[in-house]
Amino acid sequence: MALLEEPIKGVPVAKNYIDGEWVESKGEIIDVVNPVTCETIGKVGISTKEEIDSAVQAAQTAFHDWRRTPPVTRCRYLFRLRELLEENFEEVSRVQTQEHGKCIDESRGETRRGIENVEVACGIPTLMMGDCLEDIASGIDEYLIRQPLGVFGVIGPFNFPFMIPLWSAPYAVATGNTVVIKPSSEVPFSQTKITELAEEAGFPPGVWNMVHGGRTVVGGMLEHPDIQGITFVGSTPVMQDVIYPGCGETGKRCIAQGGAANIIVIMPDCNVEATIPGLMTSFFGNAGQRCLAGQTLVIVGDDDSFYNDFVEKVTDRARNIRIGYGLDESVQMGPVRDVQKKESILNYIEIGLKEGATLKLDGRKAKEILGGYPETCFLGATIMENVSREMRIVREEIFGPTMGIIRTKTLDEAIEICNESPYHNGHAIFTSNGKAARQFQYDCISGNIGINIGIVAPMAFFPFSGMAGSFLGVLHTQGKEAVRFFTESKVCIHRWL
Ligand code: NAD
Repeated sequence: MALLEEPIKGVPVAKNYIDGEWVESKGEIIDVVNPVTCETIGKVGISTKEEIDSAVQAAQTAFHDWRRTPPVTRCRYLFRLRELLEENFEEVSRVQTQEHGKCIDESRGETRRGIENVEVACGIPTLMMGDCLEDIASGIDEYLIRQPLGVFGVIGPFNFPFMIPLWSAPYAVATGNTVVIKPSSEVPFSQTKITELAEEAGFPPGVWNMVHGGRTVVGGMLEHPDIQGITFVGSTPVMQDVIYPGCGETGKRCIAQGGAANIIVIMPDCNVEATIPGLMTSFFGNAGQRCLAGQTLVIVGDDDSFYNDFVEKVTDRARNIRIGYGLDESVQMGPVRDVQKKESILNYIEIGLKEGATLKLDGRKAKEILGGYPETCFLGATIMENVSREMRIVREEIFGPTMGIIRTKTLDEAIEICNESPYHNGHAIFTSNGKAARQFQYDCISGNIGINIGIVAPMAFFPFSGMAGSFLGVLHTQGKEAVRFFTESKVCIHRWL
């Protein structure tokens, strides 16, 4: 096999970037492990309270001049960043694959989606405009301007190490705020690369900061009086127990995006040939570690021959997914991020079996790992039948390459199953019937709805939505809603005598 070109060389230490300087953390230094090779590919510091405090201080100081920089000038830094991200497109994608394990094409997709947010934020002179009405009363005019607030914290999860902080940070700085980004310490190098490019793009010191670490950094952000708001993407317990209450206690704005357990509904009139590839990427792409991944498949109708034929086709495709190191272009599924995550997924499969599900495809041991890598973090695709709506494998987030199949007689029942899930992130339906599609869109509680789309990822100019257990807040990341989140509406009323 050809040697795969890995972009992270040696064992670098991911440094913090504070006030335009790269500084090694004074906290504990931990290993960053490639889940494919199980080798240490780098190190990262678990930063201290003093380090997050000094980043917020730098960002607060930089805010004074940055907010006075005209929007049209501010967005030129983003144009430059966009160009640099394009020039480094392949390298940043390979970094994601090396530190996370996802396939290179998935990383390229992630890079593209991240860059698109920078592109949208480049339109800030238009997006940030206010409103005006002359003569609200005789001789009196009223207008609304949007002003930046100060320093924002951006907290990312492990599963999209490059893209997710870009759902927020470009809008925050474009609107005149300054940011401190805390990447997941499991995958610190993608954000390190972006920050290097932000430095090259010439952002003034203190505008774009990054502090690696874990709870101490998050706690430091939540407590800090100079942080005006936080965007968080991660698991539901952290969202519900730590981030949202923490922001509430200190009066911060908050966008909190949590976990998911998405349900994909199959109508017997769907286009089977087009649906099955969509299900493969939905359930097994990124090894199931997506907040928009399908977890439960609900097949509607009592036609046994449709059901048996459909499940057979899905199983055949899933059985033949090529597993290995995502830097190999022929690989279709990489490992999960670490051994603990693999154990958690295996545990959920056991729970499902105990609750009465049966194995149609057993992926607990990967059949073949291309390149002969250790099986430590690898799993194959698992498909379980005879699943029922009350089972934990339906109601809880598994976050791995598993599919649980439920049969229902009617679409109404399928929608009920979606609506009783504690999560409402990205449910979808596959059908060729417009009435069924509209009913699903109308009645199904879900922040993002897919009609013949298995991964309902909103483009950068739409909000990344979510509801109930998948989201806390009002405004969302991306696009115009992000612009609203990062600005205060100030209303001015003028009368000149
Ligand atoms: P996580 O909640 O463990 O970590 C997210 C971030 O919070 C990380 O930066 C981490 O360092 C920090 N953190 C973890 N525990 C903390 C604690 N107790 N106190 C303070 N900070 C803490 O999530 P993860 O495992 O990195 O990411 C996977 C989760 O993210 C899944 O649940 C997935 O569904 C969710 N996710 C949601 C979306 C969405 O848009 N809704 C997108 C991607 C991922």
